[in-house]
Amino acid sequence: MKHYMMLYPQGKTKALTLSFDDACKNDRPLVALFNKYGLKSSFNVSSCNCVKAEGQTDPWNIPISEIKDLYKGHEIACHGYTHPHLDRLPLEAMNYELYKDRLTLEEYTGDIIKGFVYPYGNYNNDTITALKINGLVYARTCIGFPKNHEFDVPENWLEMDTTCHQSDSRLFDLAERFINENPLTNHHRKAGYLFSVWGHSYEFDSTENWERIESFCKKVSGREDVWYPTTIELYSYVKAYKSLTYSIDMNVISNPSAYDIWLAKDGVPFAVPAGKTVKI
Ligand SMILES: [Zn+2]
Repeated sequence: MKHYMMLYPQGKTKALTLSFDDACKNDRPLVALFNKYGLKSSFNVSSCNCVKAEGQTDPWNIPISEIKDLYKGHEIACHGYTHPHLDRLPLEAMNYELYKDRLTLEEYTGDIIKGFVYPYGNYNNDTITALKINGLVYARTCIGFPKNHEFDVPENWLEMDTTCHQSDSRLFDLAERFINENPLTNHHRKAGYLFSVWGHSYEFDSTENWERIESFCKKVSGREDVWYPTTIELYSYVKAYKSLTYSIDMNVISNPSAYDIWLAKDGVPFAVPAGKTVKI
């Protein structure tokens, strides 16, 4: 039987995405850095803290009225209204934390907010119920280097892990591998590479750390074979890929989605255009 590998838009074989939490004031230079290198991040906001920062002199958090302009071109995602330990709350309080955060962020951005990051990485089965009730489609944990240390695409989007934390000692080794390896040569892979890094900009308080993150950005940016999506863009593309339908012999592929979807067969990329059916 045939086997196809999921590739990214324009047949790119790799994707890199970033995810930074807590909307603290160091996000201002961090966003400028990502913009300089054409990288995309999700910024995960506990909006109560940003509401409180409004009108303060030099607050630790980004004031709520600033978030729309500051994070332009990136994704804004929910992070619990008051940054609670969600696993210690009853379901209705959890629901409030998610609902109020999403409502506040949507009011101040005018956007639809569908992403979530677990504060402190804590959650339980009720949290996942609350996510579903509130229409949040992915939820990032604080776990880096899951399972097999590979550049895998999440299977369970409500408990999605990352490749590593920004300060992981293996960050640059991983970047080296990510750049130099070609996923198309491994015919057993389900998808192209995904490199996802999470962190907090307040951890960049020393000059040394700013230099480290800049050299990482420089190393991984501007590459022809890499797509740089936000997490929600990545999620939407993968969902569209999952919506493809196939004939039983896998020779005919139909794409009901609004995205051109790229795959590879035996290491050769091809596209199934949006709304079209192709015969391989
Ligand atoms: Zn946090």
